[in-house]
Amino acid sequence: MQSEPGNDPGLPLTLLRQLTPQLPGMLSTLRKFVLRESPSLEKVAADRCCGIVATEWRKAGARVERIAQKNRGDHLRMEWLPSGKIRARGQLLVLGHYDTVYATGTLAKMPFRIASGKAYGPGTFDMKAGIVQALFALEALRKCRAPVRKGIVFLWTSDEEIGSGCSRKLIETEARRSDAVFVLEPSFGPRGLLKTTRKGVGEAEIIVHGRASHAGLAPQEGVNAVHELAQQIAHIQKWNDLRRGISVNADVIEGGTRVNVIAERARALIDLRALTITDMRQLERRLRALKPIARGARLEVRGGFNRAPMERKVSAELFARAKALAAQMKFRIEDCVAGGGSDGNLTAALGVPTLDGLGAVGDGAHSAHEHVLIKTMPQRAALLAALLAAS
Ligand SMILES: [Zn+2]
Repeated sequence: MQSEPGNDPGLPLTLLRQLTPQLPGMLSTLRKFVLRESPSLEKVAADRCCGIVATEWRKAGARVERIAQKNRGDHLRMEWLPSGKIRARGQLLVLGHYDTVYATGTLAKMPFRIASGKAYGPGTFDMKAGIVQALFALEALRKCRAPVRKGIVFLWTSDEEIGSGCSRKLIETEARRSDAVFVLEPSFGPRGLLKTTRKGVGEAEIIVHGRASHAGLAPQEGVNAVHELAQQIAHIQKWNDLRRGISVNADVIEGGTRVNVIAERARALIDLRALTITDMRQLERRLRALKPIARGARLEVRGGFNRAPMERKVSAELFARAKALAAQMKFRIEDCVAGGGSDGNLTAALGVPTLDGLGAVGDGAHSAHEHVLIKTMPQRAALLAALLAAS
């Protein structure tokens, strides 16, 4: 009789023991990935990074599919089936992105370096170390002959940092086929908290159409779009409720043409965040219901939430499993709420169990001091491997 995976209490420790001495290999792979800069907006550079990531996965025995993109880096889909299985029972999705927010040339002023137990460099923390950990997790599962019962699909996309426009469909398709999604985005803080709740993220555009007129000679004939927009912003500002996790911010405004001319047009870009689907829907309703305040003004409202909130209930079971597995490896993990969105929001919105923040432990994402705490890499890789074996 085949033993049920997840029931082997010794497996997590075996995986951790297998992975701990792999740290030097993990660091040299991380270095390789970081030295290939991969900005979301530079296809040629991103494709080069995509190529070396693919090579490493081929070496690890995964079936690699490179999904060509016209304007962005290609996406990578890697599939690994438990050996000896003709057909796996179900699928697990490991999700991440290899693009970074740093333009090519950043390495010159922000080189890859290791100092005081930290690995620095563009994209180390967000999230190339996560990809490295997943690669070594897979190798550990193979080497330990862990009884994995499901097929594992690893999906590394190229445009997460710019909103996942060209990967969203692919992510959603794979998520629908999966029983669980593990997102290799960075964890939070020095203790490496997993992300079990993420705010939903949206962007709305409010355009006010007024009527231009001479500010001196015929003010009564004008409808000032800038005044109208200012009042609308003062109104929507009151929707903020930070304790509930709702924030509404006018991040960009523009309007008018010159002095002496009553502004005909004004526009604002509004950042929207909400912690629950109910609050997200209410914010969207309120936006659509905005009415002009000045007579003669006209409003146009576009956009809304593009990533729905990831509510904790979608993560709760997987998190409990992760916590129990970590305890078997003699370490503790906790969870937190993240204000930012990730591709985890997309899979959670489909109701597919999703656990996010399983990637690197470190700090400084999107900044000059971005780094990873290197001693945590084998541990986090072991946690992922154990989750894949137990799910
Ligand atoms: Zn990221």
